[in-house]
Amino acid sequence: MAGESGPVDRPERCHHCQKPMDSPIGCLSCHTIYPSSSELTHFDRLGLPTQFSLALPDLERRYLAWSRELHPDFYQTRTAEEQAMSLKLSAALNDAYSTLKDPVRRAEYLLFLFEGPTAAEHRSMPEGFLEEILELRMEIDEAKEEGLLDSPSVQGLRDRIKRERDEVMGTIGEMFRQIETSAEPPATATLATIREQLNTVKYRDGLLRELSSCGV
Ligand SMILES: [Zn+2]
Repeated sequence: MAGESGPVDRPERCHHCQKPMDSPIGCLSCHTIYPSSSELTHFDRLGLPTQFSLALPDLERRYLAWSRELHPDFYQTRTAEEQAMSLKLSAALNDAYSTLKDPVRRAEYLLFLFEGPTAAEHRSMPEGFLEEILELRMEIDEAKEEGLLDSPSVQGLRDRIKRERDEVMGTIGEMFRQIETSAEPPATATLATIREQLNTVKYRDGLLRELSSCGV
């Protein structure tokens, strides 16, 4: 995994107060922050296991605890070095939080950690998918031209796209779960399948955004 390529300094207990630490970036008990290694992943920083499935309230709680901890007001009397470090950590935490709270971005990030293909490297879609999208697009365009966007059939279309999109996200979650619970490194073919499925989610999200911008 890309995030595990080098040795990472992750004291399980704080060097200062010896209390167990929630995250390698610092200790919430004695308010010490540790120089953050660039090797840390978004999951590491928030003290979370590297997995797709996560509880959003837990993610939020961890993020808010660290946001408070790193608030500039608490650093006014600290050294310039500590102030700079806290600002850098804040930015890294904001990035970690916004990436992990969104399931699509989280899946993208996990795919990156597992060294799977990027969207640019692997553009293919499941067979028949583009034809399906084209048909949906034509139906939407027709409804637009005829001023029928608020008709039950267009709302049904939106619900169907949403349902299919959610089903695909469920499949992606299940595929990640299998990777995460396996002792073997993920197969290239599995990562390529996740990429294809993720590509379809982006297409469907594009249609949903378009419908939403028209008030559907
Ligand atoms: Zn401590």
